[in-house]
Amino acid sequence: MVTRCCHRCKVPQILVAEHAWGSNGTIILSRDPTHRMVIIDNVALANILDSISRRIGMPLDNIIVEAKRKSGKHFMDALLSGIKGFIARNLISARVYQQMSKQLSMLGLGHAEVVSYERHRFLEGMATDAYSAPALAGDICGAFESVERCRAVARFEHRESGQIRIQISRTDQQRSEYEDRFAYRAPPALPGDNIFELCPVCKAPLELGRRYAFDMDRGLIHEVKTGHRAVLTGAMTLNNLFGELEKELGEEIPHLIMTIEKERVKEVITGKGNTLDFSKAGYQRFMKTLRLRGMGNGRNVTITGDHVEVRVDNPYYEPLVAGFLAGFYEVATGEPAVVEWTPANRGYTDVLLGPA
Ligand SMILES: [Zn+2]
Repeated sequence: MVTRCCHRCKVPQILVAEHAWGSNGTIILSRDPTHRMVIIDNVALANILDSISRRIGMPLDNIIVEAKRKSGKHFMDALLSGIKGFIARNLISARVYQQMSKQLSMLGLGHAEVVSYERHRFLEGMATDAYSAPALAGDICGAFESVERCRAVARFEHRESGQIRIQISRTDQQRSEYEDRFAYRAPPALPGDNIFELCPVCKAPLELGRRYAFDMDRGLIHEVKTGHRAVLTGAMTLNNLFGELEKELGEEIPHLIMTIEKERVKEVITGKGNTLDFSKAGYQRFMKTLRLRGMGNGRNVTITGDHVEVRVDNPYYEPLVAGFLAGFYEVATGEPAVVEWTPANRGYTDVLLGPA
């Protein structure tokens, strides 16, 4: 499969066709604006999950598979509504998985191929460059449940080749209504007036092609500056995953996520070596990355002595946004910070940064 990229900005055409970068710091699916997407640093995400796993002394695989299964099903249900869903489920179900494999590659989740498939019973795939074995197994399991309209379980196994073998099989085990419920509900997005400079050929934000390198055939996206792998993922998916972790493991989870993101940002910006502008305008410029990644729209910055207060509209997961800003603040002050944030119930968060 050869994916066509724009000859000018090198962004895959399919990626631009299927997503819209809003003026309010969000990325949405072109065909379904209720689905919000974000670009996440996969190295940081893996680091967050590993740290949590180490702290509690057990693997998170089951929680990850479950959270992804639920959101994968939710996503696919939305995609396969109406007549399209009828056709997909009854006439071309095998082809749906090939299509899905293309989607996974587009999102930077890796490359997956169907090895064997039996309708309503079984799906086996082999994945190369998977962004996360349990997450990918959960994604595929959820899609299978949606397409086949049955309950399923996922198993995955690391091969010596580095590939992951994923098996999804139907199960007749009952689940409670509660277990299948999708708890997260996003607050309505606030409007914004942010303007991206667009590629004259394909209309992708020019910054996207500058900041990220795409290999759609392998299913890889890399941030050019850090070399880190990035993935495009549903905002609901991660909210659900982080929500599950918080529910199971307690309130320290958001703080831990904030801290890990803060350390990542510090490493990235101190590694760059160029001088940074810590004025109000400097904060504003720094926050432009959030918009490109669909993580929110940085607005007011108030600096009072050692204290900085920042309002971000439509933040994607407040602890991540707070950590992102706190990293910048700690590099600016050279001191550890006290970081607080307000929940974005009304569509925005206020992040408060001050000396410890
Ligand atoms: Zn272009």
